Amino acid sequence: MEKKNTEEGMIQVYFGNGKGKTTAALGLIMRAVGHGWPVLVVQFFKKRFTGELVSVQYLPGVDIFQFGSGEFIMGGKVEEADRKEWLLGWEMVKKHLLGGKYRLIILDELAYAFTLGLLGWDECARILSERAAGTEVVITGRTVPEELVSAADLVSEVRMIKHPAQKGVCAREGIEY
Ligand code: ATP
Ligand code: MG
Repeated sequence: MEKKNTEEGMIQVYFGNGKGKTTAALGLIMRAVGHGWPVLVVQFFKKRFTGELVSVQYLPGVDIFQFGSGEFIMGGKVEEADRKEWLLGWEMVKKHLLGGKYRLIILDELAYAFTLGLLGWDECARILSERAAGTEVVITGRTVPEELVSAADLVSEVRMIKHPAQKGVCAREGIEY
């Protein structure tokens, strides 16, 4: 079998209805930083305190940003504040995908932008294909467009078997945020 160049940046997708997509993406930072990789994490549709906002400060070369109105998007209805935050975040992402400053770029919950109609596949595909050489990209979200699954090099589905939410347990500090 032909051995592929491991320096080549790939596209990874973690999706599905179970817990673990964001934690898997964040876990990858541990590995990347150990090799001296600069890492960018952009969390979309989120603006609230999470442990990772603090813990990445202990890791050299990791930058994290959240873009969200701070309110949940109810029934898929995008408010002006959501749209404004989305545009700010997407502008930053485009700049860094093309710029090559980061070796690993985690786009947490980017997939929701397709569902909400904020991002079209064609635009996303163009930016991904034009990204700086060697940039590994991780995209998470519950549901992802077929086109993204086709374009990605690695796709993992996280399937819910059980979740404490089913027995009424609220999001837990240190575990869910
Ligand atoms: P995590 O951030 O814990 O890795 P995730 O990224 O896989 O979770 P998301 O789809 O982003 O999960 O959902 C965000 C929150 O919803 C997380 O706190 C997660 O624990 C919770 N969650 C995930 N799956 C379920 C589920 N099937 N039922 C209820 N809550 C869930
Ligand atoms: Mg998540």
